[in-house]
Amino acid sequence: MKKAGALRPETKIVEAGFDPRTARNSVKPPIYMTSTFLFDSAEDGERFFADAKAGKKAGLIYSRIDNPNLQIFEERLKVFDGAEEAAAFNSGMSAVATSVFAFHRPESYILYCAPVYGGTEVLFEKSLPTLGMRAIGLHAGDDVGRQIKETVEREGSAPSMIFLETPANPSIQMTDIEAVVQQAHDLERDGVRPIVAIDNTFLGPIFQKPIQFGVDLVIYSTTKFIGGHSDMVGGAVVGRADLMPPIRSWRGQLGTHMTPYGAWLATRSLETLDLRMRRCSENAAALANVLAEHPMVLKVYYPELFPAGSRQREIYEKQCTGPGALISFDLASKELAFRFLNNLNVFTLAVSLGGNESLAEHPAAHTHSGVPREVRDKIGVGEGMVRLSVGLEHIDDLTADVLHALEHCCG
Ligand SMILES: *Cc1c(COP(=O)(O)O)cnc(C)c1O
Repeated sequence: MKKAGALRPETKIVEAGFDPRTARNSVKPPIYMTSTFLFDSAEDGERFFADAKAGKKAGLIYSRIDNPNLQIFEERLKVFDGAEEAAAFNSGMSAVATSVFAFHRPESYILYCAPVYGGTEVLFEKSLPTLGMRAIGLHAGDDVGRQIKETVEREGSAPSMIFLETPANPSIQMTDIEAVVQQAHDLERDGVRPIVAIDNTFLGPIFQKPIQFGVDLVIYSTTKFIGGHSDMVGGAVVGRADLMPPIRSWRGQLGTHMTPYGAWLATRSLETLDLRMRRCSENAAALANVLAEHPMVLKVYYPELFPAGSRQREIYEKQCTGPGALISFDLASKELAFRFLNNLNVFTLAVSLGGNESLAEHPAAHTHSGVPREVRDKIGVGEGMVRLSVGLEHIDDLTADVLHALEHCCG
């Protein structure tokens, strides 16, 4: 038999972090709905507090600091990414914000590649500046390396953090993770270099594993594929063990921890994550081809359709092992896009993504309506663009639904 340490992720994910003997032989973890924990002795309590203060993993004290359901989820989530540690949050946004707070330095700034998720964009551009924190946006894609170099030269110092989101949403533009990590290393002075963080919600942790390329922190909205059933909001950060104490400390101070019930739901979902993401991705790949051949569709944004020999194709093949479930495509106008959306029957007209059900939305009017028009034009979010998150339904039904809605656009 293979030793536990050598088990493959799909196997480890079923048992890591939980021993049924600690819970009256329950095969599945119970939900530990408690705010506080018994100390066996006053000395134990003293030691737990000392460990927590030193940023070490401590015995259980209080559920804002830690809880068994969080521990189980964190032990399992880190498996797919091959991360040293994980921290669970009550939303993707709280995972992003808490990480940013943990590594901000007052004399420095954050570099990020736009477009990023709308909430992240608002945090970087509107809210952080009110606290005197600066974030500078670059354009995602092939040219990030040159932009980082120019920004660092102009600022006269390196950023405290480089924040990536690849593929970008909804343009599916990819950024070369390995090249950015290399640049962060080149900026090291006196043992300090920018932390590289990546929002890996779209393809991770199954089709993109950024830690392999040297990324320090990988951030998730577990609301999406990891939760996978559109029935919870949650987030997580996985990465280097030495970076987790400040993240946990800030999480404890802000109270952005995942709830026991949220962690229990997310833990349940991890067991089918690999299966779900692969099936969603297969469905999406088939649908992307149907869309690409349709005369009304002007352009389809999907990794498998990146032209052979292009830089985007090269990046995709280097850092991803599958195309994922998100497809964006352009129709000729907003009117056509709206008519398409209003004629869908199997796809649900709703924002969010990564659930077992297929969803469709209009980025310019919905998810990206807060982004100014000129910025939307620059990042390729046109008025005729539709974004699909492809789910687990039968591909023939999904295809028929899309073809039917396209047919009714013109009529
Ligand atoms: C949804 C999403 C977020 C925000 O996550 P919440 O769980 O809604 O707070 C961040 N990044 C990406 C890429 C997302 O899709």
